[in-house]
Amino acid sequence: MTVQRDRFYIGGTWRTPASSAKISVISPNTEQVIGQVPDGDPSDIDAAVAAARAAFDDPSGWSHWAPAQRADAMDRLADALDKRVPDMVQAVSSQNGMPVAVSEKLEAVFPQLLLRYYAGMLREASFEETRPGLLGGSTLVGRAPIGVVGAIVPWNFPQALAAFKYAPGLAAGCTFVIKPSPETVFDSYVLAEAIEEARIPAGVINIVPGGREVGAYLVEHPDIDKVAFTGSTGAGRSIAEACGRLLRPVTLELGGKSAAIILDDANLDLAAIGEQLFGATLLNNGQTCYLGTRVLAPKSRYQEIVDVFTALAGSLQVGDSLDPQTQIGPMASARQRERVESYIAKGIGDGARVTVGGGRPEGLDRGWFVQPTIFADVDNRSAIAQEEIFGPVLSLIPYEGDDDAIRIANDSAYGLGGSVWTGDHDRGVEVARRVKSGTIGINNYLPDPTAPFGGVKASGLGRELGPEALSAYLETKSIYL
Ligand code: NAD
Repeated sequence: MTVQRDRFYIGGTWRTPASSAKISVISPNTEQVIGQVPDGDPSDIDAAVAAARAAFDDPSGWSHWAPAQRADAMDRLADALDKRVPDMVQAVSSQNGMPVAVSEKLEAVFPQLLLRYYAGMLREASFEETRPGLLGGSTLVGRAPIGVVGAIVPWNFPQALAAFKYAPGLAAGCTFVIKPSPETVFDSYVLAEAIEEARIPAGVINIVPGGREVGAYLVEHPDIDKVAFTGSTGAGRSIAEACGRLLRPVTLELGGKSAAIILDDANLDLAAIGEQLFGATLLNNGQTCYLGTRVLAPKSRYQEIVDVFTALAGSLQVGDSLDPQTQIGPMASARQRERVESYIAKGIGDGARVTVGGGRPEGLDRGWFVQPTIFADVDNRSAIAQEEIFGPVLSLIPYEGDDDAIRIANDSAYGLGGSVWTGDHDRGVEVARRVKSGTIGINNYLPDPTAPFGGVKASGLGRELGPEALSAYLETKSIYL
């Protein structure tokens, strides 16, 4: 696959970029250049924000359309994306190493699911209500779109995470400038073509791929009304500082180091739960923010749990992300593999025990592959248990009793996801309630579009998905009658 693009999708047309700089995309499978797109420059962001502003301010435009009219347009966009599923799968998996088996289920279909969900909500929603006043009279409470949104997304789930933002935001009547990560740009062109085919009005969604400087420029742009960011905690902090200074609303979906708590009554038969366990701990080569990468194991069943995870990781098929049989693809970049390998070295240096993996897979001499790796006997205070590795590396930490498990789970700077594995549903829910995180699953982990998703502590601010996300793109106004 070789992709060559020379324009940006801005203001409903294909616009020539301000500079001749290019982003070269390198295949994580082969380490070969597989395409080039223009690299965004601040003046491209200016043009995109101006287009989004004009679309938002148009008195007969998108933000003033009847809800049903916007909902119809969102359904058309979902239909246009449906037609492009194979292109989206190829685009995503060729760039970031996500196995096609994952991109087919998530990246290439989740956006449509969200567009249709929020379109449905929009048809039912009411944006004004009159409330009787406590002091007499009444108040007309209106909810209006917040304005122009700067949406910044990472490379690990580039399309799903963009849709987490634009699906509720479009329903609310906002307009968007999306800045994809330089590692994943081809998929944003597939999205732009779908937007064009769906006849979404000019300027409602504009897309400018580029690096962190361009992202920072977008965050601070005077004509942006809200920032929606998914990415690392470090970048999230600097965006939060800028938004704090500007008093600009911001949602931050950041890193994680969640706990998968195995209770002593869990069913550990891999034939029964292997797929769920894999989805909750290793999905997308371990490059998923919410994964339970700290596995908390009761001392009474510790060896059995070590054996189960060793067998799971050892059985996974590692290979080219475009091969449908692949379960673990390459790391998204050379830098990402270096990071993962340096954590593996740190874990060994800190005295943890590798039970499987720990190196590069045999026979794959090209591509940024690492073996799925299990560490046993990990101290929860060590670097591999406290810091986000973002690769197929799990730390098994022993505990004694449910209270101890919850204490260890909460002994983390992060609080995004997690899971509880048990034969007793009520006990699982009780433990889940006590874990400090924005989301958590019982015997599985699968984000549900109808429920708010996001983190506490260093995992972020605000929530995406569910009706809560629609509210996050609306501003209220009270008119006292
Ligand atoms: P990153 O923070 O390096 O980059 C994310 C995006 O932000 C990219 O588009 C990048 O160009 C841009 N960016 C970076 N610094 C910026 C700045 N100062 N101002 C504006 N934009 C900036 O993250 P990444 O390596 O691309 O993604 C991996 C990280 O994302 C992991 O930490 C992962 O946990 C996190 N993540 C979180 C969620 C979630 O929902 N909580 C989901 C997926 C990924």
